[in-house]
Amino acid sequence: MDFDDKRKNMVATQLITRGIVDNLVLDAMLKIPRHLFVSDDMIERAYYDMALDIGVGQTISQPYMVAVMTELLELDSTLKVLEIGTGSGYQTAILAEIVSEVYTIERIESHTVRARQNLNNMGYSNVYFKSADGSLGWPNEAPFDRILVTAAAPDIPPPLIEQLADNGIALAPVGQRHSQQLQKLKKSAGSITTEYHVPCLFVPLIGKHGWQE
Ligand code: SAM
Repeated sequence: MDFDDKRKNMVATQLITRGIVDNLVLDAMLKIPRHLFVSDDMIERAYYDMALDIGVGQTISQPYMVAVMTELLELDSTLKVLEIGTGSGYQTAILAEIVSEVYTIERIESHTVRARQNLNNMGYSNVYFKSADGSLGWPNEAPFDRILVTAAAPDIPPPLIEQLADNGIALAPVGQRHSQQLQKLKKSAGSITTEYHVPCLFVPLIGKHGWQE
């Protein structure tokens, strides 16, 4: 099976059968070559139903989890999105396929460098990268219509809630360091509502409003 077939198989067997229905999400995941976001020794496993090591103790998330998070964000082509935890840049590319602009922050500089290079090579010109503590957000570029945190936090960091636009959605794996649930927060006319979704396990958000290293 070549990579295109593996990707089609991933979408059919891991996403559609588990209830992912948003065509924007399914089309982006059919298009983005996930095998280009993992190291050569992982390439044969790129379309497996699991998170994979990307170095420096970090992971590229399981495809299903990427799809669930992207669908929960209720995206469209007009939106400006902040992502915390660039990692390999795979989720960043999925977002960049769907929305207008993506601002992405990663604390490990070597990951930022590699993701930037990869996305530039793929021709994305709507992604802005920064290497910093993403728990502080990106105040100079706020407000954001959507904020996605792809590392586990004790709570959604308060600066991110401040930087969320009215009618915005923020999503993060929230809970204990070794067990979380996806928390979806909506801001509307200044008031906040919260929903909880699937249980999950992410690497920790390390920073001022996350966990200590
Ligand atoms: N979405 C990524 C992908 O598609 O490859 C996977 C993200 S990985 C599960 C979580 C990432 O969050 C790691 O690369 C980690 O270094 C990063 N991270 C942890 N704490 C952070 C912080 N305070 N600010 C920015 N990035 C952080």
